[in-house]
Order: sequence, then structure tokens, then C-alpha cells
Amino acid sequence: MAAQPIFILREGSQRTHGSDAQHNNIMAAKAVAEAVRTTLGPKGMDKMLVDSMGDVVITNDGATILKEMDIEHPGAKMIVEVSKTQDAEVGDGTTTAAVLAGELLEKAEELLESGVHPTLIASGYRLAANQATNILETITISVSPEDTETLEKLAATAITGKGAESYKEHLSALTVQAVRSIVEEREGKITVDIEDIKTEKRPGGSIKDSEIVEGVLVDKERVHAAMPEVIEDAKILLLSVPVELKKTETKAEIKITTPDQMQCFLDQEEAMLREIVDKVIATGANVVFCQKGMDDLAQYYLTKAGIFGMRRVKKSDMDKLARATGAKVITSIDEIEESDLGYAGLVEEKDVTGSRMTFVTGCKDSKTTSILLRGGTEHVVDGISRALEDALRVVGVALEDQMVVVGGGSPEIELALRLKEYAATLKGREQLAVTKFAESLEVIPQTLAENAGLDPIDMLVEMRSQHEKGNKKAGLNVYTGKIEDMYENNVIEPLRIKTQAINAATEAAIMILRIDDVIASAGMKAGPGGEMPDMEL
Ligand code: ADP
Ligand code: MG
Repeated sequence: MAAQPIFILREGSQRTHGSDAQHNNIMAAKAVAEAVRTTLGPKGMDKMLVDSMGDVVITNDGATILKEMDIEHPGAKMIVEVSKTQDAEVGDGTTTAAVLAGELLEKAEELLESGVHPTLIASGYRLAANQATNILETITISVSPEDTETLEKLAATAITGKGAESYKEHLSALTVQAVRSIVEEREGKITVDIEDIKTEKRPGGSIKDSEIVEGVLVDKERVHAAMPEVIEDAKILLLSVPVELKKTETKAEIKITTPDQMQCFLDQEEAMLREIVDKVIATGANVVFCQKGMDDLAQYYLTKAGIFGMRRVKKSDMDKLARATGAKVITSIDEIEESDLGYAGLVEEKDVTGSRMTFVTGCKDSKTTSILLRGGTEHVVDGISRALEDALRVVGVALEDQMVVVGGGSPEIELALRLKEYAATLKGREQLAVTKFAESLEVIPQTLAENAGLDPIDMLVEMRSQHEKGNKKAGLNVYTGKIEDMYENNVIEPLRIKTQAINAATEAAIMILRIDDVIASAGMKAGPGGEMPDMEL
């Protein structure tokens, strides 16, 4: 029988196989890592990203850049995943993780070329990553939750290089104060949920006008100018239903033939509305936040009763208000009890650069904090907000773990040296992989030096020699261009940044290495009800 070709894939499917597939994926992943590399460190550059709508984002935050880049290559996407996970787990170190993953692949490729099997590289890399965690423990410094000074240094390190240099101290202090206020202790363990901090951005003014509001900040004003601007001892009602007459669900027609009838109809409508408003007033509330609409006439009655009312409040704001004030969100005006009301010491509407905002402070639950961010322009405020987000997360993580390391490439150099020693104790080819892993870690100090316009080789040599002398905190001070004690330079990061970056980068690199076949379908051409593809065998 003549050999017949065998088709197992639908026509148009693409398949790359063996070392081609591997090479292809590695190239793509490396390209992505390369793209964010120039942004690493305090002296890193920024990227300007323009989306399809023409909106501009200027940032040097790895996770943001990769999120905004419309990446399609499956191999490249895996690096994006690394930085996303890093962002979710720690909130900082996203560039580090992506750059590290790229370098691990670069070094792996050298091994592949010299004939080392991917499985061996994978197991060597795993060994090295595990050992790295152990080595990191030896250079970890513990930090007490009461140690405000160190926490502020952590925040400042996270903010460095994000365009807020001159206000670093103010923002770090703000960060620590905000995170402190939401710390929860359960069974002796500290947990921090940064979601509890609400950030409102407001362009205008200066970064140093940014402030903490101990309570909830709502970016809205009261519905009627004649309502009181300030309410002390606020009894707060939260409504998720409108203060309006219900629209009938059936289509009805009313025939009015005389002016009397018209008047009668209007009076009736007013009475019905009045009844609803009376129910609201009868609750004893002096502040009403309504998620839906508020009829003009209802506004008038509420104003007459001296109530502060707000309409179309965002759902997320309603939830925050409910938590902070202890109020229940009411879904039916007929069923309000006094216990459903919440309490705040002060509800106040204030002017913030030309527009009005409402400050709800002195709440029942003191664990609600908002940050009002200010800054020259919208892009400035956006940048600060991203930097602050990193800082808040970093301080949160440090409070949870209470373990930190110094930065500036110092831990990476220590790891590289110790891992090379560890490699020497191994037998077989895994030794090669562990050595390459160690070399890969040096990409971080190397890039920090490159981005600061320094000679990376000189810097690495000096760092290695300092570490060999036992100076385990020696790192690169990018401002002086010298190798210095990073602890004394106040460059401190949570341990979790490093462990997470190493683990995520290793896993992604291994996953990419183990792929030897890429099969891309031709797309779902035969959609639902379409033709089934022919199976030719
Ligand atoms: P990532 O997204 O990985 O956090 P960054 O651009 O924030 O990227 O850079 C983080 C790196 O910069 C870390 O290795 C950190 O130790 C280093 N770094 C931060 N501040 C300094 C400093 N003042 N001097 C030297 N290195 C610093
Ligand atoms: Mg950072």
C-alpha cells in the first residue's frame, strides 16, 4: 500500500514542532521581558502607551505596561501572566519578575544549544528556586509592626522612581498611616486588605496636599443647595431604591377633561410622594444617601426637613458607607427600622479645587480610611495613584509577613554567589542548570546599573567582592553610582517580593521550556450549527 498522508488537524491549523516551537516561544517571551527592562529601578525610563481610543498612559510600572500592551503571542502572554500574578500577590516587583523570567529563558537557551534536555533544565531550575528561598531566609531582616520608621522606608522604596520623588516622605507617611488604620488581627495574625482603603483622585493642587480622610470620601455633592452643608451627629439612611413615585408596569391612560381633574391628579401624585418622603423623614435620619434617583419635589421636602440628601451614589460607595457607618442598605422604604440607620460624627460637603466632595468622618467603624490624592494634572495624579497603590500593598505585605530584605540588587548578588556554591555540590547536568539560574539572577543588579548609565560589569564585580567579604547588604546606590550598604541607604523591600518573583519567573520559564509543540487552531470557522470538520484518516 502506498503511504497516504494522515491529516489529524483541521485545514488551516498551524503547527510548529520541536526545537522550532521552543525557540519561537522563548524568543517571544524574551522580547516581552526586554520591553520592560529599561524601566527597572529608580533611574528606569517611562513608557507612553496609547490605547485604541487614544487614551494616554505614562508609566514605568511593569504590570501596567504589560496589561496595556496588546500582546497576542502565547509564549509572550506567559510572561504577562508572571507579572500579573506578582501584582496580585505582592503589588510590587512586577518588572523584576518579568525581567527575571526572560533571563532564565535566555540562559536556558544556551543550555539547550549545548544539548541539555529541557526536563533536566526544569528540574535544575526547581532545585535552584527552592534553594534560593532558603538562602533568602539567611539574609532576611525582621520588622516589627510598630516600627513606623522601617515601614515608611518600605513605602518610600516602592514609590522611588515613579515620579513622586520630591514628595516621597509625605506619601510614605500617608501610606503607613492609612495601612495601619485598616490592620486586622485575627488569632494573632495580621491581615491587611488594601481594598478597605478608598482612593479618590483629584487633579489640581499639589501632591503634598494629598491627605488621609478617616472615614469615607464620596465624590459627589448634596442634591439641593438649600440643604445643610454640615451635619453633626449624623444618623445615616442608605437607600438602594429611588425616592420617586413608582412607574406603573402596565400601560395606562388617564383621560382628563377638566382643569379640576388635572389639579386633582397632581394633588394625588404629590400626596403619594409626600407619603414616601414622610416615611423617610419619620426614620429620624438626617442624612440620606440614595443609590437611585430623587424626585425634585422629594428634594424639596427633604430640604424643608433639614436633611442632607445625595442621589445616584455609586454602589461601591454605598457598600463602603454601610461598613463604615453600620447602616443597612434599605431595599424597601416601607420597612425601615431605627436600627437600620448608621452613625457618623460628621458629614460635611467641602470644596476641593472647584468641585464639591462629601466627607463622612467619625464613623462607627474606625477601620475605614480614604485617601484624597492631589497633583498638578490628571497624568500626575494617575501616576501617583499607581505608585501609592504599590506602596500600600508593600506596607500591607510587610505588616503581614514582618520580613524584609534590602534592595538595590543586593539579595540577587548574594543568591547568585550562594547558588553557585550550591551548584558545585550537585552531581550531573543539573549542576549546569543551577549555575545558569544563579547567573540569571544577576540580571537585576546588571539592569539597575545599565538603566542608571553605569558600567554593569564594574558594578557586578564590586558587588560580588563586597558580598564575598561578608557585606551581605551591599547593593548598588544608583544615585551615587557606588556599591553601598543598602540598609543604611533605606532601600528596603518585603521578602515576599523576592520569593514570589523568583517562584513565578521559574514556573513560567519551566512551563515555556517544556513545550515542544504549538498547535494553533484555524479559528472557530465552523461555529454553532456549522459544518463539522471532516476527519480524514
Ligand atoms: P518593579 O516593578 O520590579 O518593582 P521598579 O522599577 O520598582 O520595578 O524597580 C525595583 C528595583 O529597584 C528593585 O530591585 C529595588 O531594589 C531597586 N531600587 C529601588 N530603590 C532603589 C534605590 N534607591 N537604589 C537602588 N536600587 C533601588
Ligand atoms: Mg517597584
